[in-house]
Amino acid sequence: MTRLKIRAVRADILDLPIRRPHTFASLTITKQSYLLVRLQTEEGIEGVGEGVTAGDPWWGGESVEGMKSMIDSYLAPLLIGEDATRFGLLRRKMNTVAAGNPSAKAALEMALLDAWAKALEVPLHELLGGIYRDSIPTTWALATADVAKDCEEAQRKRETHGITRFKVKIGAAEPERDVARIAETVRVLGPRASVRIDLNQAWDELTATRWLPELESRGLDLVEQPIQRWNLDGMARLAAMLRIPILADESLYTIQDALEIVRRAAADIFALKIPKSGGLFEVKKIAAIAEAAGLPCYGGSTLETSIGTAASIHLYCSIPNLTAGCELFGPLWLADDIVEESVAIRDGQVWLPQGRGIGVRLDEQKVRRYLRA
Ligand code: MN
Repeated sequence: MTRLKIRAVRADILDLPIRRPHTFASLTITKQSYLLVRLQTEEGIEGVGEGVTAGDPWWGGESVEGMKSMIDSYLAPLLIGEDATRFGLLRRKMNTVAAGNPSAKAALEMALLDAWAKALEVPLHELLGGIYRDSIPTTWALATADVAKDCEEAQRKRETHGITRFKVKIGAAEPERDVARIAETVRVLGPRASVRIDLNQAWDELTATRWLPELESRGLDLVEQPIQRWNLDGMARLAAMLRIPILADESLYTIQDALEIVRRAAADIFALKIPKSGGLFEVKKIAAIAEAAGLPCYGGSTLETSIGTAASIHLYCSIPNLTAGCELFGPLWLADDIVEESVAIRDGQVWLPQGRGIGVRLDEQKVRRYLRA
């Protein structure tokens, strides 16, 4: 018996403006692109999902253009006529037709789950086991590559949104310059804030061994993915050397990666993200591996609009060991959003939206405005 028959799947590319240029270790971006997935059922339900990569292909290899082509040509045709409630089975079907492509698959799974939760008239988290909390403290990313601008922005975010955790993107400059910049940022913000860095794999182990203890002694609180994703033995040596935690991000895509990180003690905290791991249920499995190893999880961001942010907060609130905070700042970082009411970020926390499904509604006018021609 089919309970929720899929009639159509549509994938559109949107380009949204951001508030200021954002500098990663590898490039600077001035806009962010999304793939908006809309899944219609015969019963008249629409499920919405979002595919995204941070600054397009540099981070993980996928792009919104690639995702659209993958969905239009291979993945959407598999879903037509199928029962949306069997999302696990559909996911396995997608895997038999296309390897990899986690963000494209995640966007479709999100739309399937949103449709199913809407049909049941329940919030998404009820399909995920229920919530342990209804808000999570968030981190803000500082990425202007300029100490004075970063500190001023942090000060403003503290005043307007109560945010006190700041993650600085580094790795674009020479290590000496980056380290001096972070030491200065910690000095200025440190007493009333937590300062962390994300290297996005920019250093090698030798550089990290030379400079991370220095930053630790200056008051840095956490280091994210300091070295290459494949160098788990190096990550383990750094984790053993430092007292501050090492957060695994690019090293952690799959459940197999999670198992290997635990085996080698290559990180202290897991950074979870829906797009990199191919969907909400894969993330839940990864979190369970962390739980089994006694490790906390951190709610990562791929710079989502309120669509992906809402799905993420439902998921993160349903994970018992997600105790290291989150970074779901996308709706504040973007200059505009594509929903009627953005996910709430106040008092330093991201709040679970109310309502059925993912709990936010598309603003059709804004969707049209940002649609790529
Ligand atoms: Mn990261």
